[in-house]
Amino acid sequence: MLKLPELSYALDALQPTVSLVTMETHYGKHHKAYVDTTNTLVAEKGLGALALEDLVKHAKSQGEAKLFNQSGQVWNHGFFWESMTPGGSKPEGDLAAAIDSAFGSLDGLKAAFVAEGVGHFASGWVWLAAGSDGALKVISTHDADTAVVHEGVAPLLVCDLWEHAYYLDYKNVRKQFLETWFDGVANFAFAASQYAAAKSGAAGWRYPG
Ligand code: MN
Repeated sequence: MLKLPELSYALDALQPTVSLVTMETHYGKHHKAYVDTTNTLVAEKGLGALALEDLVKHAKSQGEAKLFNQSGQVWNHGFFWESMTPGGSKPEGDLAAAIDSAFGSLDGLKAAFVAEGVGHFASGWVWLAAGSDGALKVISTHDADTAVVHEGVAPLLVCDLWEHAYYLDYKNVRKQFLETWFDGVANFAFAASQYAAAKSGAAGWRYPG
């Protein structure tokens, strides 16, 4: 049985960037609904032995759209909660060097990340990711699609582009949400741990079981 993951911060700890009411709704209602529906589908299909990462891959390879959408959203939200920390954290060491190499500076990454997120049509996710050559890139995925099942892509950080992620706090102004999110809560310490794992060939973050 999948569960909602425990957060390392209180639901009100990301304020003012992400309000308590947004977290209560997003974590307690949206994410919970994806968890509950995925558990129902898993029980129906007898797939309870699979780790979530393998479940998403299975759904993708079998073309099981409903299972893919629900389970992908469970994983993406778990990764999103890890991608935030109260007050944010700045990149250091290898990650900072890789950001400078790919984007010129942290401001360059911010510009690329915000532009990708603003330019993404409708719902989805904007990611900082490492390619198989270790070079960083910004990508976006549609709806429930998740970088964890993309070949040659290691996700480092993600921001949710679905309107439920920002509409209560920023209304329709996705750009302001992304800029404020990047400066205010983006967890580059987590991204650095993901980057180190990717470079060593390790699996990186797994959804807690
Ligand atoms: Mn969401």
